[in-house]
Amino acid sequence: MMIEEKPEKNSGYEWWAERTKKLLDEQKVSWPLLKTNYENLANIQTRVFTFDDFEIKIQFNPDRIKSSSADVSDNAIKFRKCFLCSDNLPEEQNGLVFNKHFSILSNPYPIFPEHFTISKRNHTPQTIIGNFSELLDLTRSLGKYYTLFYNGPQCGSSAPDHMHFQAGTKNIMPIEYEFNRIVNKLPLAAIGNGKIEVRFFEEFLRYFISFESRNKGELLFAFKTFVNAFKKISAPHIEPMMNLTASYQEDIWRLIIFPRQIHRPRQFFADTKEQLLISPAAVDMSGLFITPRREDFEKIKQDDVIDIFKQVTITKEYFEFLRKKIGEIFI
Ligand SMILES: [Zn+2]
Repeated sequence: MMIEEKPEKNSGYEWWAERTKKLLDEQKVSWPLLKTNYENLANIQTRVFTFDDFEIKIQFNPDRIKSSSADVSDNAIKFRKCFLCSDNLPEEQNGLVFNKHFSILSNPYPIFPEHFTISKRNHTPQTIIGNFSELLDLTRSLGKYYTLFYNGPQCGSSAPDHMHFQAGTKNIMPIEYEFNRIVNKLPLAAIGNGKIEVRFFEEFLRYFISFESRNKGELLFAFKTFVNAFKKISAPHIEPMMNLTASYQEDIWRLIIFPRQIHRPRQFFADTKEQLLISPAAVDMSGLFITPRREDFEKIKQDDVIDIFKQVTITKEYFEFLRKKIGEIFI
């Protein structure tokens, strides 16, 4: 059932964060499967690998097996029922209509203490181009409690045929609680124009870029510049591969972009002994690796984390190209 409640005039952006929180509470009462899965999450096991200035957490989460091992090939997608289309949602699932075009849905297979899927109401392909402005609106509206994220159709999305974002409890992913500290360790200052700050991170096993601004127009322009530059060094006819996280605090949006080279690392496809069923998406790139199988959770070593990041992030050469092209805005 889709709920079309709207905030009263002057009730502000926080209304959406509060209403979304309430949706999950309601679903814990009305949907037994969801309730059980959130209870299980409370007892979930985690390991931590510590690096110089940051950490990577490993979460053992058996409920994520379907998502991590999803066959996202064109053929498989063509012959399955779309699980995000409203006709195919579980009977118990309720959703909040956001800005006419999106539905906020509780995720019944959580990684976060509170986890949502925010899907477009129409069945249209996963793409950030044309949906970025909505990502910023959602981030502002839900930012009191939640961080938004996006997985490209070729790098982590388990529904590449149906546009969706996700939202999870703030400050669970290491990149979020580490951000202010690691910014101080960067060898170069932020670039910008007084209205936006752009930073490039390369000392943290994977390459990423942050945009921070209180001005939506600046973010739209900077992101467009990034996408156009990244297109030049990506395969033609597909969206450049990326994962995004977006948060909102003290009236400032923070966008973190993880440009990607490949989706799944060699270990995903390896023989039984060597195999690690890890399918990196925004959450993993943000420092929280999800292992749906106990053997992988127990077997994974710090060196595997280093090796996996090295395979899925872009090359140094590409990163420098993006740095140069984005830098040109501010010259
Ligand atoms: Zn669909």
